[in-house]
Amino acid sequence: MADFDKESFKKDVINNVKNLFRKTIDEATQEQVFQAVSYAVKDHIIDRWIATQKAYEEKNAKTVYYLSMEFLMGRALGNNMINLTCYEQVKEALAELGFDLNVIEDQEPDAALGNGGLGRLAACFLDSLATLNYPAYGCGIRYRYGMFKQAIENGYQIEKPDNWLKNGNPFEVKRPEYEVEVKFGGYVATECREGKNYFVHKDYQAVRAIPYDLPIIGYGNNVVNTLRIWDAEPVQEFNLNSFDKGEYQNAVEQANLARNIVEVLYPNDNHYSGKELRLKQQYFFVSASVQRAILKFKENNADIHDLPNKVTFQLNDTHPTVTVAELMRILVDEENLEWDDAWDITCRTCAYTNHTIMAEALEKWPIDLFQKLLPRVYQIVDEINRRFVLKIEDMYPGNQDKVRSMAILYDGQVKMAHLAIAGSYSVNGVAKLHTEILKKRELRDFYEMRPEQFNNKTNGITQRRFLLHANPLLADWATKKVGDGWITDLPVLEGLKKYATDKKAQKEFMDIKYKNKVRLAEYIKEHNGIDVDPNSIFDVQVKRLHEYKRQQLNILHVMHLYNELKANPDMDFEPTTFIFGAKAAAGYKTAKLTIKLINSVADVINNDKSIKGKIKVVFIENYRVSNAEIIFAAADVSEQISTASREASGTGNMKFMLNGAVTLGTMDGANVEIVEEVGKENAFIFGLSAEEVMKYEKDGGYYPMDIYNSNPKVKKVLDQLVDGTYSNGDKELFRDLYDSLVMKDVYFTLKDFDSYADAQKRVNKAYKDKANWAKMVMLNTACAGKFSSDRTIEEYAQEIWKLEKVEVTL
Ligand SMILES: *Cc1c(COP(=O)(O)O)cnc(C)c1O
Repeated sequence: MADFDKESFKKDVINNVKNLFRKTIDEATQEQVFQAVSYAVKDHIIDRWIATQKAYEEKNAKTVYYLSMEFLMGRALGNNMINLTCYEQVKEALAELGFDLNVIEDQEPDAALGNGGLGRLAACFLDSLATLNYPAYGCGIRYRYGMFKQAIENGYQIEKPDNWLKNGNPFEVKRPEYEVEVKFGGYVATECREGKNYFVHKDYQAVRAIPYDLPIIGYGNNVVNTLRIWDAEPVQEFNLNSFDKGEYQNAVEQANLARNIVEVLYPNDNHYSGKELRLKQQYFFVSASVQRAILKFKENNADIHDLPNKVTFQLNDTHPTVTVAELMRILVDEENLEWDDAWDITCRTCAYTNHTIMAEALEKWPIDLFQKLLPRVYQIVDEINRRFVLKIEDMYPGNQDKVRSMAILYDGQVKMAHLAIAGSYSVNGVAKLHTEILKKRELRDFYEMRPEQFNNKTNGITQRRFLLHANPLLADWATKKVGDGWITDLPVLEGLKKYATDKKAQKEFMDIKYKNKVRLAEYIKEHNGIDVDPNSIFDVQVKRLHEYKRQQLNILHVMHLYNELKANPDMDFEPTTFIFGAKAAAGYKTAKLTIKLINSVADVINNDKSIKGKIKVVFIENYRVSNAEIIFAAADVSEQISTASREASGTGNMKFMLNGAVTLGTMDGANVEIVEEVGKENAFIFGLSAEEVMKYEKDGGYYPMDIYNSNPKVKKVLDQLVDGTYSNGDKELFRDLYDSLVMKDVYFTLKDFDSYADAQKRVNKAYKDKANWAKMVMLNTACAGKFSSDRTIEEYAQEIWKLEKVEVTL
């Protein structure tokens, strides 16, 4: 970074410590130094931030508003320094002050305002938008408590509150001048003025929405975009003068209503819970974001009909779908447009991304709840539905099946996906296979009605965080080989292909992998007290705990391997460390029991001297972005073993690939495209195809009992769930897991078991051939170019958003 001066940076840090904590630098704690460094870095951000917004305004450039309930940002300091290109300079400055930048970075709590893949995707997209010079806002909620912290006690998951704002957030800026009001409840009155009907919302409860802005820094281009997260405050702080009890009660209720809305992130991943508070959260941040976007648009544009040329609202899943109705409300009630006019503008301004086909994840609000909470918005949804149904009937006369499958209001429910599709000009899936399944199955009727609306945007990840920051050794090595162009143009890594068979380069690459494995082994020793051997295969499955992701398949196979090793201690077997990391939704029983099983299996296996440490099982507590960065860099094998058709894309798979791990996976989500890029000889693929899974399902499933009865290996591990092997003799502890596998096996775990065990054998054998293994993992890194979120964002920007790049000079 050109405008970085080491000496003045050191002075800034020393001064910040004084001003913030009334301490000299040698009295300060590491956490206080973290704060001081962050404010010193912020100084370098602010001028760029102001310049960026000015450049956007001068150009009156089209802006995308990425609306998302979740932004899984992780830590900011390291990433901000990386993108300002001052990381090494700050590191040196701090070293001279006697501090280790790694330790300083470790003081920062993760901004865990998301569950998993969907929230992390939003974070990667913001990084790419800024790096590619696109005008963009992220819009979300400033949850007081983010994703819970997971502790493992006696093998069980315990959820602890994540008070991430406890010490303040040095990078955020409160923007009280942009406050807006959001209204809940009450009723709608009709008033007639000069022959025209007006709808007036009465008796509502209002909440003040206060934005906090976080800087999103582009890589080395002076761009600073904004992630705007909304806090809620009561309209009337308690009025101490009116201690009249009715007033007091009212004031307390209003204050609590406001605080409750942003109190906590719902910890469900890929699962819908129809809680009123969740709908409140959705409308709260959508209404605030849309109101603010329209106000800003009107500052620079005279005609509201220009909105689609200047703004796109991208809906990250159905969570912000109420945007469609809120925009209609503003256009009809506040801008006084006719319905058709308003609808035309709305449908050219909103675009929707589908993230799942799983029935339990589809949002459907009970009409009475929706109507009571959002009476005016509901009226609008009702009218949108009435017209949409007319359109269906017009296209398919007399076909009530079509109405049933496509209506927005049906069976007493508001179907948010249908509203999103009806009100959007684009519907996209997140990987090729997923988009094809949407078109052919889940959303077939909508696709047939309007095929041109559908498109695919395969997900991606930012290489700035997941290689440059997370794996500095490999990043430096890649730069030495092919130059640093890959930092903003990931396909440049293709230049590494020619080194995949070069003995010297192979050794360099594998030495780096080894060092990263040592780093993870130290983390595991510190956090789990377990010794793991960096020479063993690091076989890793880290992601949310969900039945469809099939951690059960993985751990059942570990149990099977252990049986084999016990029976045959001299079996030809490359020592393997099976590493898990996963949070389970707090109310998801089966998922939580699976965590207990993994920890119980770990306890037994890790303490059995007879297998000479050939298998180790490690469960990494509190999986999150900051420890993910260490984990990906150290992995040899990437477990991507979802039931085919269920994982829309996956992005963990891409982070592993980029860091030189081979995929052990099903032909699901983006795994299909990973194999396309790297070649099937450089991945380990197994299991039923999506077609096969969907055919079984159409035919009513299959009989897992047949497998139990005919496959002795499977029978043995299942019996061990209920014979006390892993539960100190308690035969009931894992009974529910046993029952659901043997009776139903909805996720085809037993069906895929043999195929998975065979793939595991192939992995184990392949690892012995060091030269070929090195070639495989190097090709994975070299072929990861497609999976940059820069590619994804270029596709969104050109094909959906029609954005133009804006250069920023200081
Ligand atoms: C990438 C990422 C995910 C998503 O992982 P999948 O394997 O795609 O489900 C979840 N959590 C964290 C912390 C991540 O970094």
